Amino acid sequence: MNRDHFSFSLQEAQQLDQQDVLSRFKDEFYINQDCLYLDGNSLGLLSRRAERSLLESLEDWKTLGIDGWMKGFHPWFTLAEKLGEKTAPLIGALPSETIVTGSITTNIHQLVSSFYQPAGTRTKILADALTFPSDIYALQSQLQLRGYDPRNHLIQVPSRDGRFIEEDDIITAMTEDVALILLPSVLYRSGQLLDIRRIAQEAQSRGIILGIDAAHSIGAIPHQFHDWGVDFAVWCNYKYLNSGPGGVGGLFVHQKHRGQLPGLAGWFSSTKEKQFDMEYTLSPAETAGAFQIGTPHILSMAPLIGSLELFEEATIERIREKSLQLTNYMMHLIEHELSSFGFNIANPREEARRGGHVSIEHPDAIRICKSLKEHQIIPDYRSPNIIRLAPVALYTSFVDVWSAVQKIKIIMTEKQYEKFENKRETVA
Ligand SMILES: *Cc1c(COP(=O)(O)O)cnc(C)c1O
Repeated sequence: MNRDHFSFSLQEAQQLDQQDVLSRFKDEFYINQDCLYLDGNSLGLLSRRAERSLLESLEDWKTLGIDGWMKGFHPWFTLAEKLGEKTAPLIGALPSETIVTGSITTNIHQLVSSFYQPAGTRTKILADALTFPSDIYALQSQLQLRGYDPRNHLIQVPSRDGRFIEEDDIITAMTEDVALILLPSVLYRSGQLLDIRRIAQEAQSRGIILGIDAAHSIGAIPHQFHDWGVDFAVWCNYKYLNSGPGGVGGLFVHQKHRGQLPGLAGWFSSTKEKQFDMEYTLSPAETAGAFQIGTPHILSMAPLIGSLELFEEATIERIREKSLQLTNYMMHLIEHELSSFGFNIANPREEARRGGHVSIEHPDAIRICKSLKEHQIIPDYRSPNIIRLAPVALYTSFVDVWSAVQKIKIIMTEKQYEKFENKRETVA
C-alpha cells in the first residue's frame, strides 16, 4: 500500500486505519487519550501484557521467596535465556546466540573487552562520526584500558552532510590496522538504516570483527545477524520493545565464536549445570549466556516477557511494513501541510535506508517541541535542531499521524512556539 499520492483528508487517514492489520494492538497499550505519543523510539509505552508479566514476577517473589529462582511462574534462573530465545526471531539469530542482560553501554564494554584483540599493527577501532555518545565513551575507555590513545586509535568515519554515513566510506575505512568495528544499525538522529549485510560481508573478508548497536532498529526492523555473519550485537529493550525505563538490554554473539571467553566474567557467565558448584575456575556457558556477568535484574526484565508476546503475534515483518507506511504517510503530510514553515526532512526517503522515525530539522526545533508538549503531542528533541517523530507501529494510528501534523500546523501558523525559551530541558 505504499504510495506517493494522498488526499490528506481525515477520511483518508480513517480509511488507512481500517485497512491496518495491526490496528488491534493499540488496545493492548496504556495510552493517555488526550496525548499523541511519538516518542516510542526513546521510551516505549507500557502494554497490559508487560504489566501482567511484571506483576506475575512480583507475585513469585511474594509467594515463593528464594524458590522463585526455580519454581516461579517465570523461573528466574533461566529467565535471561528464555527471553533471549524469544528475542532471537527479531534479530535473525539462533536462540543460543541471544541473551537478555545488561544495558547497551555495559554490553558494549563486555563484548569489546571480549572481541577486541589487538595484534601487531592491527590495533584500531572503527566507529562513525554520528553515533550515540555513550557508545563512543565506552570505546574510548576500552582503548585506554589497553594502553592505547583513543585520539589515534578510535577512527570515526566522517559524514559527508552531517546526517548520513555512506557505506562506501565505511568500507574505505576498513584498513589493515582496524581490529574491530562498532556501528549502529540505525543512526539515532537522522534515522538512516545502514546496509548491515554489505558491511558485514566486507568486514568478514578483511578479518575484522563487526559489532552492531541495534538500539534504534530492534522491534522496528527485521535483521538477519546470523546469516549476515555479524560477530556481535547489543540493544536495549526499552525503546521499540516497550520493556520499561532502564529495562534490561540484550546481546547477540554469533555461534562461530562459541568458546570465546567473556572479557568480564562473573558467576552468571557459567554453564547452568556448574554454576552452583562454586569452583574457582569458571566453566563458561556454550551460548551467548557466557557474556552475562552477575545476577539478572529480574524485575527490570519481567515486563519484557509480556511485551515480546505482542511481537510474536504481530510479527516483525508486519510491524516493519506498517512502520514504513506510517513514516511514508507522515513525510508526505509534513511536506503537504508544513512546506511554508521551513521544515526539512532529514531522514532518508528510500525504504531500504529508512528506520522507524521521521527526523525533521528546524532552527526553532526546541521551542516547537515545547509547544508540541503543551498540546500533549510528545516528540523528541535532539540538539541542536532536530525533532524526531516516531509513529510506532503497534500503537500509532494513521489518524494519530494526521492529527499530530494538523497540530503542528496550528502551532506554526499562530507562531505559538515563540512564547517558549530557546533552551533545552535537562532530559530532552
Ligand atoms: C538508547 C541508546 C543507548 C543507551 O544506552 P544505555 O546503556 O541503555 O543507557 C546507547 N546507544 C544508542 C545508539 C542508543 O540509541
